Amino acid sequence: MAPAQHPQQEQAYYGDTYLTEVTATVIAAGGTADGEVGGTADGGAAWIAVTPNIFHPKGGGQPSDEGTVDGAAVTPARDDAGLVVLARVPTLEVGAAVVCSVDPAKRRLHAALHTAGHVLGALGEARGWQHSGHSHFPGQARLDFDPEGHEAELATPELREAVRAELQAAMDATLARGGAVSASVDDGGHRTVTIEGVNAEPCGGTHVRSLADLANVRILDVKVKRGAIKVRYEAEHA
Ligand SMILES: [Zn+2]
Repeated sequence: MAPAQHPQQEQAYYGDTYLTEVTATVIAAGGTADGEVGGTADGGAAWIAVTPNIFHPKGGGQPSDEGTVDGAAVTPARDDAGLVVLARVPTLEVGAAVVCSVDPAKRRLHAALHTAGHVLGALGEARGWQHSGHSHFPGQARLDFDPEGHEAELATPELREAVRAELQAAMDATLARGGAVSASVDDGGHRTVTIEGVNAEPCGGTHVRSLADLANVRILDVKVKRGAIKVRYEAEHA
């Protein structure tokens, strides 16, 4: 799901996955460098919020970005008002200009995994499966689907392997066709991510520009456990 928007903060990562360094302005600050919790930031350290914001906070199955503000490592999180706050920063005044930087290799990997997850979700739904959950974390990326009514097609290891191979073939064909990836935010702040020729769905994550940016997308296995069809996958940025 796409989270609520905060009116004072431009979410630059919504518009450009590849913008990994920017000069931003502090629009809120709290906590102290040695202890008091200033609201939603974790660990009792000082926190700030900046605009434009290039940091993706954990959510929607995608991990938080890792990055720095003026060279100090920060941890992004989203507060209840939809503001992305950055914990573990030196205390800074509202209005200060800061240089924000996101780890570009992790950003690209997260975007590749997330985008491949959208495609895999659409391929499962094309089989008649109902998407019920997902994780796009590196090393544990998977899509979950509701198994009800699909027990027979997945009853043995051989059948599950056949379905895995079908999903891989469908993934390869989809990626070979290609398609642009775009995002839009409506007046109510709801963001929709569209993959040309695949689907459109509400999402607050980061994505590649085109399916041509994906490489080594592998469907690893298909299992049925704990009440879900679990399809594990991996992907890289081209
Ligand atoms: Zn997404």
